[in-house]
Amino acid sequence: MGTLRLEVVTPDKTVVGADVEMAVCPGAEGEFGVLANHISLLSALKVGALRYRASGGKDEYVFISGGFADMNNNVLTVLAESAELAGNIDAARAQSARERAEKRLAAGDDAVDVARAESALQRAIMRLSIAVRH
Ligand code: ATP
Repeated sequence: MGTLRLEVVTPDKTVVGADVEMAVCPGAEGEFGVLANHISLLSALKVGALRYRASGGKDEYVFISGGFADMNNNVLTVLAESAELAGNIDAARAQSARERAEKRLAAGDDAVDVARAESALQRAIMRLSIAVRH
């Protein structure tokens, strides 16, 4: 089977740079898979798990905080505000973030930015579910 190049980058760093057999992305309109030599595509991503399989390897999971995926010339570039390999997720930190967001939402205080707290909660829950896939 052929491979494609996967690059997952954030403003700070490259999180993944690998030749992979396939990648499955959390598209804004639903998951989509990309194989070698896929036609060009550009898609918005939602908070979720990106899964990929390096040549002959096992599936790896990466937390993605939304962003964009661009497939061109057999290179899939994923641009995200933040991204972490499953093994690099700090579960205790995500658990604290989850509790903080839940408290803010439960308080029902006018000063709480509900959309922001809901996004933080969504990221924390997703990180916790991906951390166990390591
Ligand atoms: P927190 O409230 O814990 O900062 P957050 O969802 O607001 O969580 P982000 O804004 O998504 O955090 O990310 C900020 C930076 O911290 C990014 O570099 C991201 O990769 C890193 N990061 C956030 N949470 C974790 C985590 N649980 N484990 C590892 N890295 C994390």
